[in-house]
Amino acid sequence: MLLAPVNWHYMELKTSVQYLTGVGPVMAKKLKRLGIETVHDLLFYFPRRYDDYSKPQMISKLQIGQDAIIKASIVQIKQSRTHRRWMSIIDALLADDTGQIRAIWFNQPFLMKILKPGQKWLFAGKVNYDFKTKQKTLTVSQYENPLADGPIILPVYPETEGLTSKYLRKIIRPLIPSVDSLITDFLPGEIKEREGLIDLKEAIKNIHFPRETSNIQISQRRLGFDELFLIALRMIERKKELQKEMAPRIKIDEIFLKDFVGKLSFKLTNAQRKVSWEIICDLAKKTPMNRLLEGEVGSGKTVVAAMAAAVAGKSNWQSIWLAPTEILANQHFQNVSKILSAFDIKVGLLTSANKKADLIKDDLIIGTHALLQKDVSFPRLGLIIIDEQHRFGVKQRAHLRRQKDLIPHLLSMTATPIPRTLALSLYGDLDLSILDELPPGRQTIITKAVEPRNRNQAYEAIREEIMKGRQAFVICPLIEDSKANVEKLFDLDRKSVTSEYQKLSKNIFPEFKIGMLHGRLKSKEKEKIMKDFSAGKLNLVVSTAVVEVGIDVPNATVMMIEGADRFGLSQLHQFRGRVGRGQHQSCCFLFADAWGENTKRRLEAMVRCDNGFELAEKDLQIRGPGELIGIRQSGLPDLKMASLGDIILVKKARIAAEEIFLRGMGQYPKLQAKLAEYEKEAHLE
Ligand code: ADP
Ligand code: MG
Repeated sequence: MLLAPVNWHYMELKTSVQYLTGVGPVMAKKLKRLGIETVHDLLFYFPRRYDDYSKPQMISKLQIGQDAIIKASIVQIKQSRTHRRWMSIIDALLADDTGQIRAIWFNQPFLMKILKPGQKWLFAGKVNYDFKTKQKTLTVSQYENPLADGPIILPVYPETEGLTSKYLRKIIRPLIPSVDSLITDFLPGEIKEREGLIDLKEAIKNIHFPRETSNIQISQRRLGFDELFLIALRMIERKKELQKEMAPRIKIDEIFLKDFVGKLSFKLTNAQRKVSWEIICDLAKKTPMNRLLEGEVGSGKTVVAAMAAAVAGKSNWQSIWLAPTEILANQHFQNVSKILSAFDIKVGLLTSANKKADLIKDDLIIGTHALLQKDVSFPRLGLIIIDEQHRFGVKQRAHLRRQKDLIPHLLSMTATPIPRTLALSLYGDLDLSILDELPPGRQTIITKAVEPRNRNQAYEAIREEIMKGRQAFVICPLIEDSKANVEKLFDLDRKSVTSEYQKLSKNIFPEFKIGMLHGRLKSKEKEKIMKDFSAGKLNLVVSTAVVEVGIDVPNATVMMIEGADRFGLSQLHQFRGRVGRGQHQSCCFLFADAWGENTKRRLEAMVRCDNGFELAEKDLQIRGPGELIGIRQSGLPDLKMASLGDIILVKKARIAAEEIFLRGMGQYPKLQAKLAEYEKEAHLE
């Protein structure tokens, strides 16, 4: 018998879960920790995976390390305690026709009342190896009665303390019969038909309680499409909204542009020229520029942005340039001041450690987020440049409006090249410029994946470089040694900045000057280290990922990365891009904590490939989009179902969104309603 889902007769999507049978205020609080507050949230809380009890595995075939489901009889079952009586252990012997296995439960003494010898149950769990008895054991996470006429493919949800999948199933299951009346399918019929997508109601029912495994995939596809489609649609709408706004019109001054280009110490690449022109034309429009500049590492984004600021400054408009860290703000200040000094453009620096900028007089103010504080205002703001970040909050930008009616232009530069389709979907409200060409004369960086036994050779290579007057970076994944004894126990030797610094300066390179750089240092200290390194006063710097983006020290030729398996390919490529910036041959050494197959594949990709866009695409395939640096901080809502790595689906959703938008949203009231609601939930920034 199904329980009535609510304690009264009427239920809506926005009904609080608290009123569901079996919930109440205490459980409601716990559910809230999972982000579940309403019936809607619950129905859209998707399983992480499924336990398929319809095809149990044979005990004789179980492999150590595997997640398995078996259908077995309980031969015997007994309870004991660990020797210090901390923990209750239930220990059972299970058997099927092919063999026997010991099953273990920790701290669930009540199970003695449920599981009896002679009974047959379905057990799901992980197959482990017991060193003492030298036998396989099953650490059971779920058990199900095989005779119950419920579904046999059971959803396993992301859990939190005190909230099990069993419980979530118990409260979601009674909602399923109401799905038809609760859920409205908002996706236009023609899109569903063309893309072969199932109905939303069916998808929701099947995502929780699929009758067959094949139903899972088609439901995931439908729900994933929805997520991508809504993002794409929202981006397109936003783009249109922005085009209704007015921006300062900065006329194209050909004489100045010629002068600017002529006075640079190098010749712009074709890509730089093309991209600069796109930007300059945008600035001349009466609507605000909203442009994303994607560039290969070292492709020379800085000078392009500096030119935009110069163009604005010449027309008496101010620019601000937001850098992600103080180190970078300082560095940009040095470099950009140098570039712009020939053109009478005044440049200021504003960070929390340096407030010298003259907000009235400076044409370009470079800084960190200190620039966005409430009490800082820019009377003539015409252009915002965001460095090494994808997205800039709509609210932040609104806050920087110069006057009520004028919105500054925006140029955003990414830290990571992202494949074009993905960029179009994720940042569909932005126009895209791509710098896919490096300045001439750059040598390829020699990249080597170094196995532990060859570590000393790598150190010798570093020594040689430093003796020649070059400099080196050593990147570590952590700041300090892990205090977690558990990790020590498993002999996880994760390199930390502090311990590597000790080791390198005392034992390996006592003759060299070594600096240490990480996020916990005071900004003055960081600044000093970077300054000393730039000036060649330090031979080597040991650092965390803070050097990842944008640092430019042309004399540095060695990049050594510890724990390379812990970074994404795009991130590694960024690190590598810190060297090879001058005329000297540079190299990059990759060390890994663990040499699994996956690590090998990824490091090989690094050795073979030096194209950031390609590596990003590989990263997307190997690790999925969550790991692609930058997307996490992209400000987009969490995608629960869709994979951004599924480029085909991403593309389809984008095309569908464009189509629907062109036809006019007025034709699709259900979709409009959904979008309004989505907007509220997702807080798209
Ligand atoms: P990124 O795109 O990674 O931010 P930068 O703007 O820091 O790259 O430029 C990398 C280096 O290349 C800088 O030292 C810069 O002066 C130099 N550079 C930029 N454009 C050119 C060019 N067209 N020719 C030669 N060197 C260039
Ligand atoms: Mg840069």
